[in-house]
Amino acid sequence: MRFDTRLIHARQAPDPATGAVVPPIHLATTFAQSAPNRSKGFVYSRSGNPTRAVLEATLADLESGRRGLAFASGLGALTTLLESVPSGRRIVAVDDLYGGTRRLFEHHRQQFGVEVEYRDLSDLAAAREVLRRPAHLVYVESPTNPLLKLVDLAAIARLGHAAGARIVVDNTFATPALQRPLELGADIVLHSMTKYLGGHSDVVGGALVLARDDDAERLAWLQNAVGAVPSPFDCFLVLRGLHTLGVRMRAHEASAAAVVEVVRRSRKVRAVHYPGTGGRAEAALVRRQMSGRGGIVSIEVDGGGRGARRFLRRLRVFTLAESLGAVESLVDHPASMTHASIPRAVRLRHGVTDGLVRLSCGIEDPADLAEDVAQALRSV
Ligand SMILES: *Cc1c(COP(=O)(O)O)cnc(C)c1O
Repeated sequence: MRFDTRLIHARQAPDPATGAVVPPIHLATTFAQSAPNRSKGFVYSRSGNPTRAVLEATLADLESGRRGLAFASGLGALTTLLESVPSGRRIVAVDDLYGGTRRLFEHHRQQFGVEVEYRDLSDLAAAREVLRRPAHLVYVESPTNPLLKLVDLAAIARLGHAAGARIVVDNTFATPALQRPLELGADIVLHSMTKYLGGHSDVVGGALVLARDDDAERLAWLQNAVGAVPSPFDCFLVLRGLHTLGVRMRAHEASAAAVVEVVRRSRKVRAVHYPGTGGRAEAALVRRQMSGRGGIVSIEVDGGGRGARRFLRRLRVFTLAESLGAVESLVDHPASMTHASIPRAVRLRHGVTDGLVRLSCGIEDPADLAEDVAQALRSV
């Protein structure tokens, strides 16, 4: 079956007991046993829950993995993954990362003696150099947050595997509707389901999808041992969101295209960051590994922090808020909001300037979004 059909039907057959076409929300924390240690597959709701099981099977199907695991948040998924990294081992991470991801890496570096190196892995020469030494994990976002850089996932998978590493891709920005890293050679996909998968700004969640059975077994064990699991109701909300992921991603992209049109022509914008606009090699990479470019556009506004603040104040349709990937358009000032936990010098070195603004284009009428950005830019 094709992707849009799988979004609705994969692992979601009508409930065998009642015929309900939507999976029931099973709130029970425990399940009756017919004899000691004899269950129908569910024992205790942290260890396994029927509603969560439907979501996890759906995620595995959509990302072409062996197993999906759902967590209480994206960082809950990452915390559980990092529990599998022994002290003294090395993580090689892309340098442009979600702020909370970097914060957690730094915590593990200081607290548990894990070695972490950040590199611009969109530059394959730099990747080759940093992966000459063995690594335990290679950790990549593509597109990156907030600069929308692209990493050649197939090439990184080859280099990382040669260094003995598992390849982890945070696929939050692209979603499996536009990019499936496991099909390109990655081992583990991570999601903040809070963003596009949920899609409506009403649920916090995270996920891991594993390509290898040994990783699946180890991480399922850790999911239960650590216990950062989502509630059955939250699992239901993500399942509900997933049904429309295909149509939503197409609408997000149409909105982003309308906004890119405006910002590229504006003299008030110094730089536009959007997948595939960084030259011919990047456009070719988009064609190779993505089936769309997504709904996030970052721009560098003239006048630095002051210019950005004026622009943000004038926007009417875009709401100033953290988060992204929902039906309503949101705008973020990374330097003072999502990426404020990164030291200023580090942030500037990686190009996250005070004038940078990240637009999460929603599914309103694209013409209204384009007009909103155009009128706000006039005030800069
Ligand atoms: C939001 C986000 C996270 C963290 O997820 P939470 O659900 O907020 O814990 C991780 N990676 C990316 C790319 C994100 O946007």
